[in-house]
Amino acid sequence: MKNSKKDIRALSKKELQDFFVSQGDKSFRGSQVYHWLWNKATYDFEDMTNLSKETRQMLVDNFVINNIEVDQMQRSKDGTIKNAVKLHDGFTVESVLIPTMSRTTACVSSQVGCSLDCKFCATAKLKRLRNLNADEIFDQVVAIDKESKLYNGIPLSNIVYMGMGEPLMNYNNVLKSIEKITSPEGLGMSPRRITLSTSGVPKMIKKLADDEVKFHLAVSLHSAIDEVRTQIMPFNAKFPLSDLKESLIYWYEKTGKSVTYEYIVWKGINDREEDIRALVDFCKAIPCKVNIIEYNPIDDGEFQQGSDDAVAKYVNALEANRITVTLRHSRGKDIDAACGQLANKIKV
Ligand code: SAH
Repeated sequence: MKNSKKDIRALSKKELQDFFVSQGDKSFRGSQVYHWLWNKATYDFEDMTNLSKETRQMLVDNFVINNIEVDQMQRSKDGTIKNAVKLHDGFTVESVLIPTMSRTTACVSSQVGCSLDCKFCATAKLKRLRNLNADEIFDQVVAIDKESKLYNGIPLSNIVYMGMGEPLMNYNNVLKSIEKITSPEGLGMSPRRITLSTSGVPKMIKKLADDEVKFHLAVSLHSAIDEVRTQIMPFNAKFPLSDLKESLIYWYEKTGKSVTYEYIVWKGINDREEDIRALVDFCKAIPCKVNIIEYNPIDDGEFQQGSDDAVAKYVNALEANRITVTLRHSRGKDIDAACGQLANKIKV
């Protein structure tokens, strides 16, 4: 029975070393296994070739490796790849590979479903079923890196925590996954190539600052007016913009790092002059950049992409206030792999 044994990847390096000592072996053996698990991303004890046959059998008797499996892969016309990833207990999440001229980015999920209730996001309709473990997030990165090498001939260069789920509602596992991805004993990627995107949980943004994280922070803002934001992101009633702003000031003071705001312009929702003024004002709190992202419809027609004119007004106002703004076009729309479209809607 696979699941009755402990998942070996839940153990820290120290716990692994202690386990080997408790078996009358050397703690060094634990380091070897740790290397197989997190540096080589090995899913089979039999592949741990520098361990004796007996040691490998002992591991099989005591542990499992609950690795993910890529259940279905879809490739978009634009080179974007979406993986439907099966977890050991049968749940499915999605991750995306986004190749551009300058980088290859993995977009990974942090929860099965999502704990938040953004009205414009397909994932929110799924509710939160469970948090992902650190190894399940790590595995999505490994799978995408393999695909990138296979299809594009280059390894992954960047990671965004922008898939399904709210990463700051799964804080410990998300940070553990980043530790395994960035540490030299793990995949050794630079934290500067990682961006965590949050809808803005003030308490946890402060915790990130206290933990002195080295990765980038992006906040899905979408409105800088409480009444509007609460209408489209109802949890804003609990975490109002004043708290969010305060936490971002704290973040900047502690880390010295700027923040990226993600922003969608919708018709009749946030395309008025006062919406633009409020964003410009919010942006003055700390050094920041604004990414205006294209809206990807999620079928119910309630939200509609703002006009080019409204977007241009935002861009002009931000630039006039010397705030960097970029327009981001969606990738992978034809396979529902774009932002906010991840909802386990697998096409066969
Ligand atoms: N919960 C996190 C990360 C997942 S959402 C967050 O909120 O940041 C990733 C990004 O996709 C966010 O910026 C979110 O606002 C955006 N998004 C959600 N639904 C979208 C949609 N239908 N079209 C475009 N972007 C969307």
